[in-house]
Amino acid sequence: MSNFTIYAVLLTAIIIFFSLRYHYKSRLNNVLQSFLNSHDNIMVLVHSQTITMINNAGLKVFGYDSLKSFKMSNADISGFFIDNEIDNKDYERDKSIEYINKYTHGKKWVEKVAKSKKTQVRVKIFSKEDMMDRFYQIRVSKLNSGNNYSLSFTDITELEANRLNTKRTAEFDPLTQIYNRIKVNELLKHLMYGSKKHNHDLTLILFDIDHFKRVNDDYGHNAGDSVLKELSGLVKDLLKETVFSGNKATFARWGGEEFVVLLEEISLEESVKIASYLRHEIEKFNFKIVENITCSFGVTKFRAGDTEIKFFERVDEALYEAKERGRNQVVTK
Ligand code: GH3
Ligand code: MG
Ligand code: MG
Repeated sequence: MSNFTIYAVLLTAIIIFFSLRYHYKSRLNNVLQSFLNSHDNIMVLVHSQTITMINNAGLKVFGYDSLKSFKMSNADISGFFIDNEIDNKDYERDKSIEYINKYTHGKKWVEKVAKSKKTQVRVKIFSKEDMMDRFYQIRVSKLNSGNNYSLSFTDITELEANRLNTKRTAEFDPLTQIYNRIKVNELLKHLMYGSKKHNHDLTLILFDIDHFKRVNDDYGHNAGDSVLKELSGLVKDLLKETVFSGNKATFARWGGEEFVVLLEEISLEESVKIASYLRHEIEKFNFKIVENITCSFGVTKFRAGDTEIKFFERVDEALYEAKERGRNQVVTK
């Protein structure tokens, strides 16, 4: 055989080999793509931080019609992860769940998430498909030694909505639509810890409607309920407009006709001013049926060594003293 024939045969063999390889590879890719598309979850394949495949469910959520167009405007999918501080706060004590955003783990987030076996990693993404925020639980698996990963995003939006709903129902007073005692107790633990750690002021106002029994006796229970609602609305608005408070004030129904205001990073002097302002505005306010009511106030500051019970006992004593002294006044302890 001449050299030329040998070369020709070799070349043909090489061409056949590569075209078969290409053929099988593209067939395999097609099979893989169809497999990914058959999932409702968002499925993504990543090789060394580069997306190599994404299924249709994913393209719809991110708002693209092909991986090529996705890649033209995005280096990575982590750019779609919206910060979800609110839910992370809820999960603060439950270390097994964490919401990540585009900055949490940086560029190598896929590797990091793959390694974090204990934590359930979640993300919030604005879905272009239905134009709303959606919540996903991510699962990252390393496929082989070649830095290949598969990512699957399970939609947990409904689950999160239910959780929020349940939480809201548990923490809100149905009559007045403000927080209840459960929320105060939960928050107090956090705030007492924060106050000790950062040496921030933490103060407590407890107030109680004066002679509320008379309202019920003279005008009926429904009128009493209506006073509780009106009073809650009024105080909520007053706290919002008070320069000192803003979101540093938590207002809740402690029970019956007793209410609390927890104030973070606000001095005792300022809290007394706020309480006096509330007292004055309530006295001036024209309630629908009963026209006028007054409230008595106790104010106190969190002290080192206070337990929750001690802290509340002191403010209760202050309130009791305000009642003793003739009601419609503010007493500090
Ligand atoms: P003072 O606090 O000034 O000493 O007198 P008071 O008459 O307000 O005293 P007390 O705390 O003994 O009475 C509270 C009343 O509040 C008794 C209870 O029937 C009424 N109350 C508690 N919760 C509700 C409620 O949800 N709706 C209505 N309408 N009344 C309530
Ligand atoms: Mg009362
Ligand atoms: Mg009372």
